[in-house]
Formats: sequence, C-alpha cells, structure tokens
Amino acid sequence: MTSLLRLSIPSDAHRWSDERRLDGQSIGLVPTMGALHSGHTALIERSKALCDHTVVSIFVNPTQFDRSDDFDLYPRTLEDDVALCDSLGVNAVYAPTVDAMYPEGFDTSIDPGSLAHRWEGEHRSGHFAGVATVVTKLLTAVQPHIAVFGEKDFQQLAVIQHVVRDLGLPVTVVGEPTVREEDGLAMSSRNVHLTPDSRAEAISIKQAIDRVLDRSTSTDSPSDIIEQVTTDIQQAGGTIDYVAVVDRSTLEPVADLRLDTQLLVAAWFGGVRLIDNAALVATE
Ligand code: AMP
Repeated sequence: MTSLLRLSIPSDAHRWSDERRLDGQSIGLVPTMGALHSGHTALIERSKALCDHTVVSIFVNPTQFDRSDDFDLYPRTLEDDVALCDSLGVNAVYAPTVDAMYPEGFDTSIDPGSLAHRWEGEHRSGHFAGVATVVTKLLTAVQPHIAVFGEKDFQQLAVIQHVVRDLGLPVTVVGEPTVREEDGLAMSSRNVHLTPDSRAEAISIKQAIDRVLDRSTSTDSPSDIIEQVTTDIQQAGGTIDYVAVVDRSTLEPVADLRLDTQLLVAAWFGGVRLIDNAALVATE
C-alpha cells in the first residue's frame, strides 16, 4: 500500500508541515511543473538525502507562461508523476488547483528585480514575476527547511536565491546539476514535443557548449564564444533567442573570460524552445 500523501490545498500542506516541524523533522521541497523525468528525480534524491521528509509540488503555473499555447500544450501526466514519486519514496505530492493558488481577486505579484530583466526575462515577459510569486506561495504553504532547484534553469535558480535572501524567507535553496540524455541533451519536460528531426538537431546545443569547454582559454573572448556557439547551433537548424557569457552572480554580460562566468543559451528547434548553460573557466 502506498504511503504517499496527496495534498491539494495550501492549508492542508501547511498543517502537514506544521505537524512534522513540531516533531523536529526536516522537510525538503522540490517544486516542479510535473511531466517528471530523471532531472526531477535527481532533485528528489537530493532532498531525500538532506531531509527527513520530501514534498514534490506539481503545478503548471499559468502566470509564468508568456504564451497561452505553451501553457495549453505543456505536458500533464499527473497520475504517472504521482506513481513515480511513490516509487521514489516521496512523502507527499502537493498538487494544488489553479483556483486554490489564485483565488478570485488574487492581485499580488513579486517583482524579482534586475536579475530577472535580461535573458529569459527579456524573452518571456512576466516569466520571473510568475515564478517568484508561485515559488513564494509554495514555500509558504509547505514551509520546507530546504528547497531544491535545477541548475538547468540557471537564471531561475539565481532569481529564487535572490528573492529568498531579499524577503528573508526561512529556507535554504539548494542547486542540483543538470541531468542529460545520453547524447547530452539537457532533460526537459518540453523535449517530448521535439520531432525526431528537431530532437537530432537539438543536440547541437550541448555539442556547441562542449566545443567551448574543450578549448576555452583566456585568449577566447566572450564575443568569440558567443559567435561560435551561435553559428554551431544555427548551422544545425536552431534559431537563437540568446547566447550570453555572464557573471555568475549578477548575470550581466562580461567582457573577459574569468572565474565565475556562465554560458547561457536559449534556442528554438522546430517550435520547441530549449535552454542550457555551463560554467566557463579560463584555463590559461
Ligand atoms: P520544471 O518542472 O521544468 O519547472 O522543473 C522543476 C525543477 O526541475 C526546476 O528546479 C528545474 O530547474 C529542474 N530541472 C528541470 N530539468 C532538469 C534537468 N535536466 N536537470 C536537473 N534539474 C532539472
């Protein structure tokens, strides 16, 4: 018999959490939009290693989508997700309805500031206000000690760390490395929408990143790297939203390669938008 609890109302999540906290037990939260894959599994395993109890939230958050077709077509596999969570030993799945999260008259939003302006924020209007608001609501309902996020969404992780710091939220944010398919494509719930041709082309993102990682030296300028990655992806059939080399804390573009820089990539393949990133270090 399953021991996994299903929670769907913020006050129920709050009460469940209160009881565990009163017993001195720690709680880890893994916020997701469902359609779970091995990337999510890695986050769950990290939470389990760090906490007595792990909660996975599953909520396709309408306010972080800038295109209604993307929201409508986002894969939804709730029963499979719950079964996977159960098999992984997750203690509770918190899957609120849109009405429970955004009741009639809901009119508050968290503006995550300058970290959210560029890159994803620029190409997906309102995205990070939606993310910051929903994550704050999830943290408020579940009251975890630790929340685990993927480095795959590098800017999202930075924005959430910033919001948690600025608002003084009593939670530790943990980042987990990107999990990839065997050929290097970063796992994503959106990968199911790739046609076989686009799927083959999409490998070019990681291949372009690896080409940079294999040979970057202090003589490579960020603009050379950006040009090379852009060309590699375009030649494979992708359409670039942005390729950037940024300071890892400010997410501002850098003029020279040095420690603490990150390569960020967003590109379209056959109508599917994919993002990826990698740490860059000048080797000589
Ligand atoms: P999502 O369900 O896509 O909103 O993602 C939920 C969480 O899983 C976020 O913290 C993501 O960064 C993380 N995540 C998604 N894909 C991966 C991946 N391939 N590797 C590691 N974490 C991931």
